[in-house]
Amino acid sequence: MICLHCNNKSVEKIGMRRYYCSNCCHAFEEKVGEMILYILDKDEKYQKVYTIAKVKNL
Ligand SMILES: [Zn+2]
Repeated sequence: MICLHCNNKSVEKIGMRRYYCSNCCHAFEEKVGEMILYILDKDEKYQKVYTIAKVKNL
């Protein structure tokens, strides 16, 4: 899988439908019909950034 934010390939699976990009420190959650992009805030909580349409071939 390629990062939806920076297009880097350093994306690892961190949960059932969660992925994390170690290049730009963004995380993604796969949901029905969409992908939600998160970034970790100072308290290491997931902060929702935006939702994007689901991309094929994930
Ligand atoms: Zn990235």
